[in-house]
Amino acid sequence: MSHRAGPLLVVIDGPAGAGKTSVARRVAAALGVPLLDTGAIYRTLALVAQRRDIAWDDEPALVQLCEAFPIAFGELDSAARAQTVRFAGEDVTAAIRTPEISQGASKVSAVPGVRAALLGIQRAAAGAGCVAEGRDMGTVVFPDAPFKFFVTADLRTRAERRRAELAVADAEPPSLDAVERDVAERDDRDSSRAAAPLRRADDAIEVDTSGLSLDEVVARILAHIGAGPQV
Ligand code: C5P
Repeated sequence: MSHRAGPLLVVIDGPAGAGKTSVARRVAAALGVPLLDTGAIYRTLALVAQRRDIAWDDEPALVQLCEAFPIAFGELDSAARAQTVRFAGEDVTAAIRTPEISQGASKVSAVPGVRAALLGIQRAAAGAGCVAEGRDMGTVVFPDAPFKFFVTADLRTRAERRRAELAVADAEPPSLDAVERDVAERDDRDSSRAAAPLRRADDAIEVDTSGLSLDEVVARILAHIGAGPQV
């Protein structure tokens, strides 16, 4: 890659289970920049709200919670497999990955005031460059990012991937049909909400990962970045 001006900002959006997080981790590791997993921010908010008996649609209380939100991301491990998430020093990495908290994240993230309150945290976390992944990175949070990708896969494939992730943490993961329903429900909510719905930015490159391995998706994205105008 040649020299470029400005921070290296790569955004990856897409629906649940498309493989965004695995892809984003690997791309970040390959580029040597941090990963910003914005889903983890909404997940952590859902977890902390639940613990404090704040309903997932209680806008004033959620917004207040966001005002001081001491979330911190660890470095990627050397195999780009995991990234620790801490809230007020507590390791919440595993606690935010349950199906219940997935639904909670989707609910708190539909609250307009929450999205507005978390904008600054996300932009500040991007620092001098990162790979940012979520639902509205290319449309709302980083509309000027030089490299935008929208990663998709068919519903069954996404449910299979999500179930495989859950099986790592839980010896008895939910059935494939249950996971598929969960993923479809989140997608509907994420796509139909008024505030920053899940949508491909007009200038994002779409990558359908259905028949592709993780290596192939990562290679495709890196090839686009290598060929990009500002690298
Ligand atoms: O990507 P992940 O599955 O961890 O995201 C959890 C939930 O957080 C999503 O279902 C979505 O509702 C919400 N989210 C969002 N905007 C983002 C990232 C995640 O609304 N940028």
